[in-house]
Amino acid sequence: MRRMAALVGTLAAVMAAPLAAETVAIRAGSVITDAAGDPTGPATIIVANGKIVSITPGHGAVVADREIDLASKTVLPGLIDLHTHLTGDPGGDFWKEATEPDEWGVVVGAKNALVTVRAGFTTVREAGSAQETAFVLRRGTAEGLVPGPRIVAAGPALSIIGGHADVNGFRPEVNELLDSGFTCTGEVECAAKVRLASQNGSDVIKITATGGVLSQQGRGLEAHFTPQEMKAIADTAHSLGLKVMAHAHGARGIQQAAEAGIDSIEHGTYLDEAAAKAMRANGTVLVPTLMALEGVSEGLGKGVYTPVVEDKIRAVQPLMASLVSRARQYGVTVVFGTDAGVFQHGRNAEELGLMRKQGMSDREVLASATTGAAKVLGMESQIGRLAPGYSADIIAVDGNPLADVTVLEDVDFVMVRGRVID
Ligand SMILES: [Zn+2]
Repeated sequence: MRRMAALVGTLAAVMAAPLAAETVAIRAGSVITDAAGDPTGPATIIVANGKIVSITPGHGAVVADREIDLASKTVLPGLIDLHTHLTGDPGGDFWKEATEPDEWGVVVGAKNALVTVRAGFTTVREAGSAQETAFVLRRGTAEGLVPGPRIVAAGPALSIIGGHADVNGFRPEVNELLDSGFTCTGEVECAAKVRLASQNGSDVIKITATGGVLSQQGRGLEAHFTPQEMKAIADTAHSLGLKVMAHAHGARGIQQAAEAGIDSIEHGTYLDEAAAKAMRANGTVLVPTLMALEGVSEGLGKGVYTPVVEDKIRAVQPLMASLVSRARQYGVTVVFGTDAGVFQHGRNAEELGLMRKQGMSDREVLASATTGAAKVLGMESQIGRLAPGYSADIIAVDGNPLADVTVLEDVDFVMVRGRVID
């Protein structure tokens, strides 16, 4: 017995690191293994080496080093957010780019990684950040040094010169100094920048296919790259086994991106029938990021944003209110992503309710943030469901998310890759 107590003490001391040999038994009140199925009733999940070993009905005797009591909870797969910016916090002070070193983004990112994972998000796709910040954060959460979600990272976004992801609003010599190195002009240079991103460690290529709302550039929200440049980006990325996510607001920009073979449209504000048709034909999915607008709208008229940005926010407001219903009416697949960082990190799950408000069922919304998002990442055999061999990315809540998806706004337990998050 005493030896056991000593062992438990040791275990507690090294909890932050994964214990390769440790076997954990989770006693669940009910389990949703897949958003397509129904809650199972009481079950026991065995976890070892960061993966799910088995899921069996009831709470019978098992051999495990540790038991976790979730007998009053519904246990389900961790949520996936396809569009976050962990390395930044909300605010309109674009000039901070000239005063804060990139490294500050890692500190902010470590804080936000914890906030995000506590909110039940066990995987996020980082949709554009400074050079190395998202990459080192990705390593930090993978190795357990930073508590946080699994990170699939784009790194710096590709943009046209002076476009949404390029430096804007400064005098020319400052713009030049702050250049990310990822603007491109013409097919050859754009293909080269995709290869450079791949070399640097990008898991996915992010491009700003059209103008953006929160940058100082006032050049509208239509297509910025030429169709040939977008095709060069998509073809090069695909040849390297990488997908492309395109920030796009204007309808013709969305259409050109889809026709170029880009895999997902982020935001998609002005989506119309022709753009939707191109998306359907090319299998392009929509990541609506409704929370982005929710977040920035809260800052309107408070001097948070410059006048050029305020004008753009007011222009897109009415369109976002019908975006998901429009997309579904046109037959476009909608997957979950929020643009956290534009609004306060940790509020990601509020997007679920906003999607439901535009006509999706609770089950469809949950699927979009689990199995649907996993498929977009090409990780559908590792995450998004609970099954033997899958990553132990597990959350627990009160109530049944299939009856009311907003219960996911209050997550009581989170495990990522077999590690319990405190
Ligand atoms: Zn974004």
